[in-house]
Amino acid sequence: MISDVREAKQREIKEALKQLDSLTKMTGLPIYPEPKTGNPLWSDVRELDLRYQIPVKRIYKFFEKMTEGKVMATKCPKCGQVFFPPQDDCPSCRISNLDWVEIQGEGEVITYTVISVKPPSFSHYSDYVVGIASFKGTSVTAWIDGPKDKLRVGAKVRLEVERREEEGYITYKLVLV
Ligand SMILES: [Zn+2]
Repeated sequence: MISDVREAKQREIKEALKQLDSLTKMTGLPIYPEPKTGNPLWSDVRELDLRYQIPVKRIYKFFEKMTEGKVMATKCPKCGQVFFPPQDDCPSCRISNLDWVEIQGEGEVITYTVISVKPPSFSHYSDYVVGIASFKGTSVTAWIDGPKDKLRVGAKVRLEVERREEEGYITYKLVLV
């Protein structure tokens, strides 16, 4: 469960902070040796619990359509450039209110990597693949799912929307076909 993972992580952080606090009291410096290299690491004594908040009003349609199983990009009506993730301004033409287009059909894997050393926020997942695939007019960076023997540069993929169960949010992924 995600809550168990979060609790374990928080306990780990709390323990590390306790050690840092006692070290800071002893030496007068908020500096501790980095566990792997032993190099001195400065650590802020203030704690910050951070969750990104990004305004999405102008691209809200992207999220709305994802609940219908569709992955949308924006397209400049003037120069035809397609943007993904969608944005509502074309930097070339300097215009806003771009058109919405669905990313459909098959794409092709341009590159990929297997993530085995995960960031803390994804540490509860088993190894996963992240890649970039080209679709007509644009490219998509996402997790790649499907039979591993099909995974190679040039492999065909489809975009799929899924609910990532542990966290319960809807997102998109590339699936090998
Ligand atoms: Zn344009």
